[in-house]
Amino acid sequence: MPPVDEWETFPFDGEMRPRALAPPSEHDPVRHGEGGVGCRRCAARDDEYLWTAERWRLWAFDRPTGLPLVVLLESREHFAEPGELPDELAAELGVLIARIERAVRAVGEIGRVHVCRWGDGGEHLHWWFMARPARFPQLVGSFAAIWDDVLPPLPEDVWRENLELLRRELESTTA
Ligand SMILES: [Zn+2]
Repeated sequence: MPPVDEWETFPFDGEMRPRALAPPSEHDPVRHGEGGVGCRRCAARDDEYLWTAERWRLWAFDRPTGLPLVVLLESREHFAEPGELPDELAAELGVLIARIERAVRAVGEIGRVHVCRWGDGGEHLHWWFMARPARFPQLVGSFAAIWDDVLPPLPEDVWRENLELLRRELESTTA
């Protein structure tokens, strides 16, 4: 076991050992919606999103998360990688990431907003905004993404209120 279990931020306790690493496979795993074919994100309607703009859409899961806010920003058009964005859209994305980060922080009692891009599950370009609560030293850093699954889900009304605060903040700053 590497010494990660000594970190205050490690979410687990007790005896653990890393899994053995399997040999490389022939190909990378197939992602959902490759080439835009059968892509659920392309097919989603605007009313399924928390907030939309001409070329971007922001959504949240349909159930409370462990962290106070977890939202995902997508390009409206199907792109597979950040590097495939035309310069104009990439520039717009930079501005939008800053605006959304600010808006998530404005919800209050947010210690940090982690802005992440993995993209190994679904191909349609998406960025994660994961808000960790302020004043919980155990929740700092990259394990916050794991803590989101470990923590009990927020009470439904608190979660809805956080989303609504974010939506209003975005409406008022991006109009
Ligand atoms: Zn798509």
